[in-house]
Amino acid sequence: MKVILAKNAGFCMGVRRAVEITIDLVRREEKGIATFGPLIHNPQVLGLLEERGVKVLSGIPEKASGTVIIRAHGVPPKQKAALKALGVKVQDATCPRVVKVQAIIKKYQRQGYATIIIGDRDHAEVVGLMGYAEPHVQVVSGDADLPGLQLSMPYIIVSQTTQDNATFQRLSGAILARFPGGQVFETICDSTRKRQEEVKNLCQKVEALVVVGGKTSANTQRLGEIAEKMGRAVFLVETEADLDWQGLAAFDRVGVTAGASTPTWMINRVVRALESFPGKGRAGVRARLFQAMWYLLASNLYVAMGGGLLALSSALLLGLEPDPRYFLMAFGYLFAMHNLNRFANQEASKFNDPARLAFFKARQWPLLVSSSVALAGALGLASRFGAGPLLLLATMSVLGILYSVRLIPLAIARLTKVRRLKEIPGSKTFFVALAWAFVTVLLPAWEGRRYGLPVVGLFTIVLAIVFIRNALFDVFDVQGDRIVGKETLPVCIGEKKTMQVLYLLIGLVAALLFLLPGVGLLPGWARAGLPAILYMFVMVQLYEHGKICHGVKLEFGLETVFPLFSLAMLAARLLFA
Ligand code: SF4
Repeated sequence: MKVILAKNAGFCMGVRRAVEITIDLVRREEKGIATFGPLIHNPQVLGLLEERGVKVLSGIPEKASGTVIIRAHGVPPKQKAALKALGVKVQDATCPRVVKVQAIIKKYQRQGYATIIIGDRDHAEVVGLMGYAEPHVQVVSGDADLPGLQLSMPYIIVSQTTQDNATFQRLSGAILARFPGGQVFETICDSTRKRQEEVKNLCQKVEALVVVGGKTSANTQRLGEIAEKMGRAVFLVETEADLDWQGLAAFDRVGVTAGASTPTWMINRVVRALESFPGKGRAGVRARLFQAMWYLLASNLYVAMGGGLLALSSALLLGLEPDPRYFLMAFGYLFAMHNLNRFANQEASKFNDPARLAFFKARQWPLLVSSSVALAGALGLASRFGAGPLLLLATMSVLGILYSVRLIPLAIARLTKVRRLKEIPGSKTFFVALAWAFVTVLLPAWEGRRYGLPVVGLFTIVLAIVFIRNALFDVFDVQGDRIVGKETLPVCIGEKKTMQVLYLLIGLVAALLFLLPGVGLLPGWARAGLPAILYMFVMVQLYEHGKICHGVKLEFGLETVFPLFSLAMLAARLLFA
């Protein structure tokens, strides 16, 4: 099925901020964290936060301690004061755009104006806004509320930030017609407006729309209403388990959007499920091709094959013969380590990639056995190359397997707060790249007795390419990783900075590939690898600009960088050397 993902789907700025404030408190291991009311309208995220010890207060308690977080929707000022009076630390995560509406209301309330809020009467944000406007405040949720309006003083009209623009215009117009002279503040937030506009555009390209979000989320429901008004079939789901496959079978091209409280990992799961569904009239070759891509990816066969080819092309670049054992050694090691690590890191996969986890669980024994055989084979081959390569590969294998094990002594861990290698911030992104560079560059170089600057240059190129691949995969998983407490590079320095690092590294790899042949450190045909780096740059750009969504096709496209890079080298060597 063809899936088009809306660019602005998922957490809006305010929700992301509220979740990050909460996660930061959890990461700082603060005790007694509670949110005042549910932090966001998403039961799955709330469940995860609860697992991490974040409680939800449904009202002002008699006694409390620790930190109470005010959610993105805000609260009436009286409630905030009551929380402070309890003596707890109040962390205000009210969205800055909601704060702006509160400030408008407060200003006019002081000047003697009444307030009309166009929004859902029972929504937490509206309840909070009413607190700033009291005592002269009325809520208009729909046409039925218009006849009951009474106004005998100057007044302002504001909107709930997630209000549908057309409804706001219609209702505010009707109020002004009946009570002329009111001041209108259209306070719908940009994020909501963009999302709604995007749904209208998306509906012109698709036959049906899947909206991912909490059942109680007002903005999620509004997105569905807009699509329905445009005559599209709408499927509102909280998770991929809610997808109505019978209904979806009538369509071939669907759009996906999500409410402001929906994390990306849940959107990705829905996108993956839809992508793998044949849809109307696509049960043929394309569906089988998709399945083949999925099996190659989920089993790690494709990534290991890319590593094997990289080892072959590295050997050629260092002036060695393309010995198939280089391929087999790298293939066996990478196939084994990627699979074994997947088994050891099931916690994050549960959120980020449940389809892959299910794939592993369904084939647990065949994958464990084949991974062990592949690792033994790689070590056997390394032993034929000599004691040094064997020792290097064995050390990397042990470190890889122990990556998730608590091997750092308690005395050191008390100081560093790190008990496992994987707890070193950003470590996975770097260690995996390092292991790839060892097995694809250093081992062939060692066996072929190649030392010096050419090896250093090639090692740096491969390290950087694999680092880019790893960090990009970490960007896809950043929200899930953050919630489960995984310290990947994007979690540590943010997605924006990570993307900047990636562009810098792409530039570095391109520069090295161009310059090293010029100074005789690599052969001239090494520049044949440049189109693969350009391809990588284009993939990153397409992802960043929302032209390609995270799913099987994007992952397969990224893993293709390795075969592309290596095959270009092999072809160039055949043609030009
Ligand atoms: S929808 Fe807008 S106002 Fe509401 S939390 Fe998100 S960014 Fe803030």
